[in-house]
Amino acid sequence: MRSVVIVGAGIWGTSLALRLAESGWRVTLVEQYQPGHLRQASAGETRLLRSAHGTDEWYARLARRARELWRELGDRVGEELYAEMGMLWFARRARGWEHSSASVLERLGIPHEIWDPARAGAAFPDFRGDDLEFALWEPEAGVVRARRATQVTARLALAAGVELVRGRAEPYGGSVRVGGEVLRADRVVWACGAWLPRLFPGLVDLQVTKQDTLHFAVPGGWDTPAWVDYDASIYGHGDIDGLGMKVSSDAEGEPYDAETGDRRISAASEDVSRAYLRRRFPSLVGAPVLFSQVCQYTFTHDSEWIIAQPEDGVWLLGGESGHGFKHAPALAEYVAEILEGGRKPEPRFGLHERIPARGLRTSGQTDR
Ligand SMILES: Cc1cc2nc3c(=O)[nH]c(=O)nc-3n(C[C@H](O)[C@H](O)[C@H](O)COP(=O)(O)OP(=O)(O)OC[C@H]3O[C@@H](n4cnc5c(N)ncnc54)[C@H](O)[C@@H]3O)c2cc1C
Repeated sequence: MRSVVIVGAGIWGTSLALRLAESGWRVTLVEQYQPGHLRQASAGETRLLRSAHGTDEWYARLARRARELWRELGDRVGEELYAEMGMLWFARRARGWEHSSASVLERLGIPHEIWDPARAGAAFPDFRGDDLEFALWEPEAGVVRARRATQVTARLALAAGVELVRGRAEPYGGSVRVGGEVLRADRVVWACGAWLPRLFPGLVDLQVTKQDTLHFAVPGGWDTPAWVDYDASIYGHGDIDGLGMKVSSDAEGEPYDAETGDRRISAASEDVSRAYLRRRFPSLVGAPVLFSQVCQYTFTHDSEWIIAQPEDGVWLLGGESGHGFKHAPALAEYVAEILEGGRKPEPRFGLHERIPARGLRTSGQTDR
C-alpha cells in the first residue's frame, strides 16, 4: 500500500487526504491545531466559487470540476456545502476581464449571460451601476460554506481511514518530524498555507498579508447573489446563513503573521467597505457590521500556486494567493494524479523565479 504524510489540515491538505485515502493510500495527516481552526485561511465562513478567470482556461476548467465535486460532497453528507446563488461581475470596461472571461466560458460551454446594468440592478435593491458597461452573470457560481466544508472534509477523511496526528511538524530529511517522532512515507506533502515560508526558508518566496472581511446587516428577505467588482478589487455576496451582505476589499493588506497576528479588523477596512456601499448599494451605507473576520493571503509573485517537488518524494503545495478554496476538491484530484505518477504539474507551478503579475482574483487597483 502506498503511503503519504500530508502536513496541514486546511482545505488543501484535508481534500488531498480524503482523495488519497479513498484511492487506497495509507494517509497520515499532521495538523498543529485542528481542521477549521481560526488561524487557517480555510476557516473563513464563506468563499466564492466562480469559473470566470479572465483569459485563463486552466483555472476555469478546474473551478468547473470543483463545482461538481463540491455538489457531490454536499449530497454525500446531506448538507449544502456549496450555495449556488449565482454571481454578477460588474464590468467597467467593454473589453476588460469580464469580456475575456465570457469568451472562455463560451468556449468551455459554461453557463453565463451578458446583462445590461439595469438588469444587473434588478438583482439588488437600490443598486447604482451607472458607471458599468455591462454585467457578466454566472448562474452556476456561488458561495462555499468554507469553514464548515473544511471540517466536513476532515471528518470524511478520518472516516476513510486517515490518521490525524496533532502536533507541529518540521522537515526531517525527506521525512516529517513531530515532537520526538519521525513519520516516514513514500510521499510527503507540505500543505501549510502561510506557515510554508518559515518551514522552507529560501526555497519558497511568499508574502503573507492581513485581509479583513466584513458582513453588513440587511433587511429580512435580502435575496441577492455573489458579486465581484474586478477593476475596483472588491467583492461580496448576499445574505447566507444570516451572515448579512459581505463587502470586502481584495486589495493586498499589510504584511501579517498568521500565528501571532491580532485578528481584529481595522477601521480603515470598514471605511473602504462603506465607501463602496455608498457608491454601489447606498441603502446599506449605514448598516451595522454584523460579522467580521481576519484571514491571510499567502502570495506568490504571480498569484500562481506552488505544486513542486524540491526533493525526491517531497512535495510543496502552497502559495494559494487568495484564490485556492473553491478549487480544493479538484486540485486534490489533480495532485493525486501527480503523486501517483500519472501526470506532471503545469510548469507554472514550479519553484522558478516568478515574474510579478496579478489578476487571478481582481485587478489590484483600488482608486476607481
Ligand atoms: C479573506 C480571504 C478571502 C478569500 N476568498 C476566497 C474566495 O472567495 N474563493 C477562493 O477560492 N479562495 C478564497 N480565499 C483563499 C482560500 O481561503 C485559500 O486559498 C485556502 O483556504 C488555502 O487553504 P490551505 O489549506 O492551503 O491553507 P490553510 O487553510 O491556511 O491551512 C494550512 C494548515 O497548515 C497547518 N500547518 C502549517 N504549518 C504546520 C506545521 N508545521 N505542522 C502542522 N500543521 C501545520 C496550519 O495550522 C493550517 O491549518 C480567501 C482567503 C482569504 C484570507
